[in-house]
Amino acid sequence: MKLNNRTSAPRGTVGSAADLDVPTEADVVVVGSGASGMAAALSAAAKGAEVLVLESERLVGGTSAISGGAIWVPNHGYSYKALGTSDSREEGRIYLLGEGRDETLDPKVVDAFLDTAPEVAHFIEERTGLRWIPVAWPDYTSDIRGASNFRALFPAPFAPDGLGEDAALVRPPKKSGMARNPLPLWLMNGIQRVWLGGYALIGALLEGALDLGVQVRTDTRVTRLISSGGQVTGVEIDGPRGGATVSARQGVILASGGFEGSSDLTSKYLGGEFGVQVSVQGHLGDAVQMATDVGADLVGMDQAWWMPGIQVPGEELDGRPISRLVQGERALPHTIMVNRHGERFGNEAASYNDLGAVMRTADPETGEMVNETAWMIFDEYYHERYAFLGAQPGGEYPSNIVSAPTLEALARQCGIDPTGLTRTVREFNPEAAKGRDPWFGRGTTTFERFFGDHSPFLGRLSWNSWSPRLAGRSRDLLAKLIGPIAGFVMAYFSKSRRGDLMRRLLVRPLATVMRPALRNPASGALGPVDRPPYYAVKVQASAIGTLGGPRTDEKGRVLDLAGDPIEGLYAAGNVGGAATLGFYGGAGGTIVLGVVFGFLAGEDAANRPI
Ligand SMILES: Cc1cc2nc3c(=O)[nH]c(=O)nc-3n(C[C@H](O)[C@H](O)[C@H](O)COP(=O)(O)OP(=O)(O)OC[C@H]3O[C@@H](n4cnc5c(N)ncnc54)[C@H](O)[C@@H]3O)c2cc1C
Repeated sequence: MKLNNRTSAPRGTVGSAADLDVPTEADVVVVGSGASGMAAALSAAAKGAEVLVLESERLVGGTSAISGGAIWVPNHGYSYKALGTSDSREEGRIYLLGEGRDETLDPKVVDAFLDTAPEVAHFIEERTGLRWIPVAWPDYTSDIRGASNFRALFPAPFAPDGLGEDAALVRPPKKSGMARNPLPLWLMNGIQRVWLGGYALIGALLEGALDLGVQVRTDTRVTRLISSGGQVTGVEIDGPRGGATVSARQGVILASGGFEGSSDLTSKYLGGEFGVQVSVQGHLGDAVQMATDVGADLVGMDQAWWMPGIQVPGEELDGRPISRLVQGERALPHTIMVNRHGERFGNEAASYNDLGAVMRTADPETGEMVNETAWMIFDEYYHERYAFLGAQPGGEYPSNIVSAPTLEALARQCGIDPTGLTRTVREFNPEAAKGRDPWFGRGTTTFERFFGDHSPFLGRLSWNSWSPRLAGRSRDLLAKLIGPIAGFVMAYFSKSRRGDLMRRLLVRPLATVMRPALRNPASGALGPVDRPPYYAVKVQASAIGTLGGPRTDEKGRVLDLAGDPIEGLYAAGNVGGAATLGFYGGAGGTIVLGVVFGFLAGEDAANRPI
């Protein structure tokens, strides 16, 4: 029997319930194997609990595994000197509770988050092979008091060798689609041997959890909570071998993600189902019913982590269409977004959460979400200069991008009001040419300009300005050439547990490349749409996850309608809690809530008497 390397417990096992027995009892049962669930499992196991993670899908990792894996941590303390910054808990608090949020958020929960987030980042490093790389990335509401440009931590490349054959059970990433990013993601395209982003985070959490003896069973859906005497004592499951029950001696932690895939729940709470999905399948909101059945209060049910998505024909995950996220493209010049009336409806360069919320807002009179299906309109200048949906500058677009020689013809092809569109563009162009947006203030904040077009080092002489096509091709070639070597070196660092050195080597160069984007001019986010042919692509409002569910306290304990903890029941991540009620602090703002409250829930459950 293989022993784990940190405690004397036998190494845990991971696999489908079709192949491995599901234990009939455990100290702590965790429902869901995303970042929240795996952090909860790791923390409970580190406290000595016997932990079982149950996952309804075939693979481990949920949406977390296909994500960027970033966590947003005020006062994280990593490499501040190299980044040229400083931060404090108090600044983070001012930011989180600003703009009236001190009236709506629970200060005890916010304080628990601020106290614990840096600790959790370090805990994950101690218990897994993962290292965090801090980068320059403005908070999403970048220009209010307490905001910072340096709170995002991305997973360092992770070598999955320690997982052995179990590596095949982690959900692999999918294609992303950021047109342009101050983080030189293009360099990662040729990288082999190491995992990046959420794949790295989940791989490392799984490895760390198995090392501590955690058992993980996939293809096992939790269908009901078992309670007795007002206390949750176990779960009912459904799997390839039929139904069964599992007792939980110390607690059940719900970490099963949002309900964005449920047409019933999205219709009931969010005004209708999503036209496109950007998260992975399996988010049916089982926990909403399960928690309600044992008396839980619900919170944040009308909120989500909003995201505009573009469905590229043929792109699927597990046989279901999955959309690309629309992020950086919206902040580039020579683009606008309009509804079917041809009207702009918001600040295209705002965070996806803010713009997505506008797209899902219903007209108070008609109840219609008129911006829910929108069109991104851009021109030949954009096509020549920037990548989009996998096509390099000047390249061939997928079939869902339509083009026409005039705006009127383009509008007709898309079912947009031609008069509305031409009027919008006629008014927008002269202002955009001056780097101004009098309607929505696009390009006024650091965050909005961060993803804009600017070549801080060489300006017009830069490669990108001089020949975007050549620059794109050269980047591809360079990534292919140096990717394998870089991957080899990073795998060596990761495997030999020299991640600290990798961090030291990476932080300064990344900061040098990325910091100048914090000073991008507003003109980098705005430009006239005036060079034919014109292009349009349908953008639909979606969510990277809903966030409403059982209300929780500062320890992740689920509360009943009277505000008292339901003994033995916890929730963390998109399944509930809604610690910030949908306020998205910055890059990593969702996963961090899951790992922090997962960690706290795991600890609290493990400390409960058996
Ligand atoms: C492309 C992309 C990039 C993103 N990048 C970032 C980022 O860098 N940083 C960030 O903070 N956020 C990011 N997000 C959002 C983030 O991924 C999610 O908010 C987060 O992963 C949710 O974590 P979770 O643990 O709550 O849920 P999940 O990771 O989705 O895990 C929940 C798991 O529970 C399982 N489950 C559901 N029901 C049951 C049941 N009844 N029984 C057993 N198991 C069940 C699901 O199958 C799933 O595996 C991104 C999202 C996308 C789509």
